[in-house]
Amino acid sequence: MSFFQDTFSIFKKRDLLFLESYKESEDVYTFLFEKEKDSTWKAGQHGLFTITHKKIKKPTRPFTVASAPAENVVKITTRISDNPSDFKKGMLELKQGMKVSMSGPVGSFYLKDNSPSLLVAGGIGITPFRSILKQIEAEGNGVEKQIHLLYIDSNKSFINKDELDAIAYKHSISVTYLDSRDDLYQEINKFTTLYKNDGNYFIAGPKEMVDTTSVYLQNNNISKKNIKKDSFFGY
Ligand SMILES: Cc1cc2nc3c(=O)[nH]c(=O)nc-3n(C[C@H](O)[C@H](O)[C@H](O)COP(=O)(O)OP(=O)(O)OC[C@H]3O[C@@H](n4cnc5c(N)ncnc54)[C@H](O)[C@@H]3O)c2cc1C
Repeated sequence: MSFFQDTFSIFKKRDLLFLESYKESEDVYTFLFEKEKDSTWKAGQHGLFTITHKKIKKPTRPFTVASAPAENVVKITTRISDNPSDFKKGMLELKQGMKVSMSGPVGSFYLKDNSPSLLVAGGIGITPFRSILKQIEAEGNGVEKQIHLLYIDSNKSFINKDELDAIAYKHSISVTYLDSRDDLYQEINKFTTLYKNDGNYFIAGPKEMVDTTSVYLQNNNISKKNIKKDSFFGY
């Protein structure tokens, strides 16, 4: 998406009706909102979500829309610690019928063509890839796309695992679960050896993990222009 399209989208603000929330794991929560008929996004994009039911200091956060456009719902999945920010306290207070506002969708973190793609998720960074895989499931075009998902979590807390495995099995997508950087780099090497700069590289997760993985790819002669990054601050 071009800068101008992004700028335009950011002014598109809409209220989203909260439906329900549930836990994905010990400290990861999913929040579901109603998807209005005329709203859409590209799988992998994010929105800017604002708490509106009370006044807090920093009421807005970017979140990936973790649902695919083909699903009938807007989904956010986020990690909430024992000592949450005011924003996340506000999210936990949401009750059915309350609203948050969303600006967007924005960002260029989505598949543009059928080039082989390596998707690297660090922990909560699985959110854009869940959306991308769900959209592939809806469109049934996994074979053409040659997708390799590497999902790293040092605690082996792989949210969405059953869902991802089911999509991977049916749509010829490879998903590898990892808990160490060394293993991650080995898997990356397999992909870069095969596809080099014919491949596209997507990395999402905590900023430090995204930056080091991007540097690793560049040190292995992958051009910066083939690497897309979604850096999640605050982790
Ligand atoms: C494109 C994008 C998509 C994202 N998608 C998700 C998602 O799907 N799920 C998810 O859980 N999180 C996502 N995030 C991160 C999310 O926006 C929050 O930053 C994160 O959840 C932490 O929020 P918090 O309220 O717990 O902590 P915060 O109070 O926001 O921040 C914690 C710490 O991070 C620092 N910080 C915050 N913002 C910045 C910044 N812009 N630059 C430098 N330092 C900063 C703060 O100073 C503080 O020290 C995404 C971020 C981006 C940019």
